Amino acid sequence: MTWWILDETHDPARTSWVESANGHRDFPIQNLPFGLFSPAGRSPRIGVAIGDRILDLAALADAGLVPDDLADACRDDTLARLMAIAPQRRAALRRVLSDLLHDDNRRGEIEPMLHVAQACELHLPTRIGDYTDFYVGIHHANNIGRQFRPDNPLLPNYKHVPIGYHGRSSSIRPSGVPVVRPRGQRKPPEADAPVFAPTARLDYELEMGVWIGTGNELGSPVPIADAAQHIAGFCLLNDWSARDVQGWEYQPLGPFLSKNFHSTISPWVVTPEALAPFRVAQPERPEGDPQPLPYLSDADDRAHGALGVTLEVWLSTQAMRDAGLPPHRLSTGPATNMYWTVNQMVAHHASNGCNLNTGDLLGTGTISAPVREGYGSLMELSEGGKSPLSLPSGETRTFLEDGDEIVITATASAPGRATIGFGECQARILPAR
Ligand code: MN
Repeated sequence: MTWWILDETHDPARTSWVESANGHRDFPIQNLPFGLFSPAGRSPRIGVAIGDRILDLAALADAGLVPDDLADACRDDTLARLMAIAPQRRAALRRVLSDLLHDDNRRGEIEPMLHVAQACELHLPTRIGDYTDFYVGIHHANNIGRQFRPDNPLLPNYKHVPIGYHGRSSSIRPSGVPVVRPRGQRKPPEADAPVFAPTARLDYELEMGVWIGTGNELGSPVPIADAAQHIAGFCLLNDWSARDVQGWEYQPLGPFLSKNFHSTISPWVVTPEALAPFRVAQPERPEGDPQPLPYLSDADDRAHGALGVTLEVWLSTQAMRDAGLPPHRLSTGPATNMYWTVNQMVAHHASNGCNLNTGDLLGTGTISAPVREGYGSLMELSEGGKSPLSLPSGETRTFLEDGDEIVITATASAPGRATIGFGECQARILPAR
């Protein structure tokens, strides 16, 4: 991971002439995430978030201000080509963008290429070929497992193999697109026969998403030491789940319609370079846990494979919004509660020769803390629906109701570094159709 060098783009003292960037919660000049956006009434193009503005990369390329070999990719109407460039070139583009937004000698030329972010539409960064959801949040696996197997919550494979399943990419949407409550088949344990009805146990899942940059050839695994070079960036992911449908359908092949009706992602691709100052050691495995097999084991990954990111989930109900109440924070916890690193996820996925492609999305699985304040789903917070949560409006919730809105946010921070964020991963629940 020697290419994860810190350079002048990470300097916490560096400021931008885009004044809203300085001290911005998510997008100071030290972040510079890529996304696909449309200014009002115009076609999709690639942009870079800077403060409350978006810099149009196509316009920057037309002005000859990006490296020549990247100009065509910057003019695309998808992020795919830019995601697939070598990490060293991506870092070079980052340095160019950082310099242009820092030095004000080209300000007059660049200012017209900035758009007010709030007036723009954000799209999925690229067509997502395949979506795989892992289950690396060990405390979530424990909490959910305990509801079904109190004495033996973790299945015997959990600490040996990064568990995952193939999800569905067609129903992934960017932040802001409402979620229609799904109908599904469910059978309460005491009922004689299943019914088909709107889910009564609609839940969210707090996850991070990992974008694949360069893929691998079918039949050619990705060595763990190379895995990081295949990652183009990170986002936030809400893997909406219908728990009643899930409980009835998941055996023997795993989740299906309980998971594939909609997933929401934050639209900005936060690069590995932006997150470089926030890499931390993977927490030591507890005494007695098995060590990973050699194909999942790498000293660099142990030393830098985890992310110093703090995740938060917020809920607002229709009644809260009507009463002018702010969103209520349901949970907060660190992303270091992952039992496997993102590099281990990539290496494991390709270990049988499965080919990852540019624009594939990997979910981490729900990230929960060992303590209640960091639980990443309502299934955990309400103990499977047994303990309703009290909200500031006087309402209670076990699972989500129509009109409820979930927002996931996250920040990466470290001593002596400028804090960066991911933007919002937000969606509101609409009634079943
Ligand atoms: Mn999930």
